Formats: sequence, C-alpha cells, structure tokens
Amino acid sequence: MIIPKHTNYFVVNYHYLERDGEKSHASHPTSPETFSNHLAYLKEHFAIVDIPTLFSRAKENGEPSVAITFDDGLRGQYLYAPSLLEAAGGYGTFFIIANTFENYIPATHKIHILLSRFPASDLLAEANRVLPETAQIPLSTRISETRKLRDDILTANFKEALHRMEHRQSEQLLDTLFASFGLNAEKISEDLFMNKEEVLDLHRRGHTIGGHGSYHLALDTQTSDVVAEEISHGKKVLSDVLGESPKVFSYPHGGANETVAHILKSHGFTHAVTIKQAGLSSTTDPFFIPRFDAKDLSETLGA
Ligand SMILES: [Zn+2]
Repeated sequence: MIIPKHTNYFVVNYHYLERDGEKSHASHPTSPETFSNHLAYLKEHFAIVDIPTLFSRAKENGEPSVAITFDDGLRGQYLYAPSLLEAAGGYGTFFIIANTFENYIPATHKIHILLSRFPASDLLAEANRVLPETAQIPLSTRISETRKLRDDILTANFKEALHRMEHRQSEQLLDTLFASFGLNAEKISEDLFMNKEEVLDLHRRGHTIGGHGSYHLALDTQTSDVVAEEISHGKKVLSDVLGESPKVFSYPHGGANETVAHILKSHGFTHAVTIKQAGLSSTTDPFFIPRFDAKDLSETLGA
C-alpha cells in the first residue's frame, strides 16, 4: 500500500536484505541499493530515530520522524544496514529470535528456504509421500480461497497446509523435507542469522536490539504459559548478550493482543510493534505501534 501523504510519524520494517543474484533465502528481498534509496528519501524528510523517541514525537506532535526496524535477526541485515544507516546519521532497531543463536530455524524461514531452492511440486510430492493418507495435501484445488492468492496453487497449498498443522507436526515435516532434500539446517542457520557477537556489535554501535520471541511463534494463538516462556526466555538470552534488558518487542507474525501486551509489560518491555500498516498518532498505544513494510515504501516512491 501507499503511505498516505502527510504521515508525519511512522515505522518502516525490513526482512531480508540481499544483493540481486545472491543465493536467496527469500522470494522478495530488499536490495542494498533499494534500502539506500529509501534512506536517502527518509533522511531528507524525517529524523531517523528509535521507537521510544518516535512514539514521544507522535504524542507531542514534534518533528516529523521515522523509525527503521528489521525483523528476525537476519545476517544480510547486519551486512548492509548498519553502515548505510550510520552514514545517513540514523540508527535502526533489530528484533532478534533468541533460539537462532542455538541454530534453530523458525518454520517460516524453513518454508522460504525450501521454496527458494526447489519447485513446489517436488516439495509436495515428498510431503505427500511421508504424510498419512488422511493428511494428503491437494494438488489441483486451493486449500484456502482467501489466503496466499498471489501464489500459484502448489506454492499456496504447501504454505497453507504447513500453517494449518499443529506446531510440532509442521516442524517435523519440515525437518523431514530438509533431510530428504539434503539441506544442512545447522549450516544454513549459521549463514542465515546473526550470531551473538554481531548482535553485540550492533548494540555497541548505538542500534537498538529488541525481542522477537524464542521460537518465533504467533503469540496471540498460544496459552499464557507459552507466551510468558517465549517472552522471558528471549529476554534472558538477549540480556546475557547485551548486559542490559531489551525494552522493545516485535510480535512474531504480527500476533498481538491485550494478553500478550500485558505479559510484555510485566517483563519490563515499554513498547511493542505490530504489522498493521499505518502511521502513529497522539493516541497510538505504546504496545500496538503500527508499521509499514519496506514494500509499502517502495510503492510510495514508485520504485
Ligand atoms: Zn519475524
């Protein structure tokens, strides 16, 4: 979507930053060149600030400002973003999935990796070979008529079938597919995500490090016990790396609700960001701060 004119306070969020032609983990990465163009535009019209500062400026109708965030702690972000941000006189906020330090790969990323390397038809054939008769994934009709409509049927059904499975079952199927297709999850995880030294380096350079859960679960679909564990474990891991507690949080998959917000507050977090595409205003709740996506900014700039 286009960012409406006269939006004076907003957040832009990035996922994969990769050069064109680089061995891709994603279907739509942002290139460093595009990121650089975005920064040039933002810097000209806004102060580039952290999330608490942006929040206060929106509250007090202060200087037009933007915060730039990066979800998932991907290595490409570390390679390209900090130097470009620093050259533009700004800082970013990086949301880290705690268990990636232990070579964990969230299901979302496993799906991206498989689809970026193999045809969906091969992945579905292998999935159906190992799935029971009653759980076969259809090949010719869409599982969902409302979601993933921009994907072809096979790709959409692959994603949707995994999405609908119970967490443990989808993890198991993805691990089976990784093994069947000869992928080394440990090596891929090491390449794909920042390590602790890189996260500490960002922190020392003045960027903000925030929480993004431990297993990257959609917290609005979990029990309070699981939510508390996801938040407290992630906080502990990051506190050990940084020597101080993270204060900002990004809801994995945008899964935000009042219960999760309340648990975040009780763990000392002060602000949390969603994926609702909008700007901030004087009435924005600090635990439901909306964000535009990098794609929205590209559309707005017509690039
Ligand atoms: Zn995420």
